[in-house]
Amino acid sequence: MNKYDYLVVGSGLYGAIFAHEASAHGKTVLVVDKRQNIAGNIYTESIEGINVHKYGAHIFHTNNKKVWNYITQFAEFNRFTNSPVANYKGELYSLPFNMYTFNKMWGVVTPEEAAAKIEEQRKEISGEPQNLEEQAISLVGRDIYEKLIKGYTEKQWGRDCKELPAFIIKRLPVRLTFDNNYFNALYQGIPIGGYTKMVENLLDGIEVRLNTDYLEHKAELDALAGKVVYTGPIDAYFGFKLGTLEYRSVRFENETLDIPNFQGNAAVNYTDRETPWTRIIEHKWFEFGKDEDGNDLPKTIISREYSSEWKAGDEPYYPVNDAKNNKLYAEYKKLANNESKAIFGGRLGEYKYYDMDKTIEAALNLCERMHLTDER
Ligand code: FAD
Ligand code: UDP
Repeated sequence: MNKYDYLVVGSGLYGAIFAHEASAHGKTVLVVDKRQNIAGNIYTESIEGINVHKYGAHIFHTNNKKVWNYITQFAEFNRFTNSPVANYKGELYSLPFNMYTFNKMWGVVTPEEAAAKIEEQRKEISGEPQNLEEQAISLVGRDIYEKLIKGYTEKQWGRDCKELPAFIIKRLPVRLTFDNNYFNALYQGIPIGGYTKMVENLLDGIEVRLNTDYLEHKAELDALAGKVVYTGPIDAYFGFKLGTLEYRSVRFENETLDIPNFQGNAAVNYTDRETPWTRIIEHKWFEFGKDEDGNDLPKTIISREYSSEWKAGDEPYYPVNDAKNNKLYAEYKKLANNESKAIFGGRLGEYKYYDMDKTIEAALNLCERMHLTDER
């Protein structure tokens, strides 16, 4: 007899939602995670009263009402709106590219003047843009490309803009209105009290074993459960036998400062080539600089973010969904489909760059599929 209906490997957002729903539908669930904390990459830790986003800044945004209604059962969200500032050699510009940016760059005042300026500068690109540089110039012109895009992108991707695909830049909004909201999303915010608290609420009443690497104890853990929901890296599950999937890596340098306000904004992008970091996050501004009781916080915590080349064994951050890696993933997926007991899910299990809302959607879809199977 299995002790549990489900073993969930990984207590990140995907695993926590699946575990919650399974448990709510009367199933017995054990969650294991190799880290010493729950919540995977959305883990926040309270330091000096500030919820520090330990694995990179996370801003929740979605257009999916079902996802929003679901996740707000586990946390109340604040009104945070992502409005990063770009710092180019000490000159500050509003992001994403909008009338505030165009006014600062060219002194233009009306949308018509801004459109004319962009039109004049994009003329140098004829035909369909062939790479990121051409795409960027054709979207916003050369001045903005040189000051706000080129250096940042080359630092972030470690490659020349002429060698990068055009689509990377297409998702950045370009607006002829005075609107600094980075996301075109209906719902946006940060869970009050931190993401960790939200995941704690999801996992309430469910047995969780931390510091437990599933792959190191696979046989004994498998023996405990009827089914396994695995949210770790798919290639690791199969012992990397077909090769290693690549990731983009980021390194964070955290610093606590004895001042109340370092940069006056949650995110400042450093868009010149010379500054070694891509951006600085000042965590307290995700929650308006206040502690839980609404008091101003005397200190601040910042994280400098460096983009680095990923090597096997590093923390996997962003999947590199290029043709080569997607092909390898497809091979692993075939192996995964033949596993009778394990289901693969989440950002690492499916090797997909899921934002949080897509992760939630994917986890709820699996719940639905499992529920239907259970009913029959
Ligand atoms: P994870 O959070 O990676 O969880 C997987 C868990 O499995 C981990 O806890 C891991 O320790 C565990 N695990 C792995 N292998 C094993 C094993 N062998 N045994 C036991 N446990 C194991 N999304 C947004 O919507 N907005 C943002 O602003 C945003 N910013 C991001 C910034 C960065 C730097 C990154 C990397 C991602 C960002 N995302 C953002 C995406 C977001 O982090 C993901 O959508 C979400 O965290 C995915 O959840 P998950 O459960 O699939 O994966
Ligand atoms: N980008 C840029 N300057 C900025 C911010 C973004 O050139 O100040 C470019 C960069 O190429 C980046 C892309 O726009 O890869 C998409 O930005 P986004 O913030 O969506 O990227 P993420 O950090 O989520 O990968």
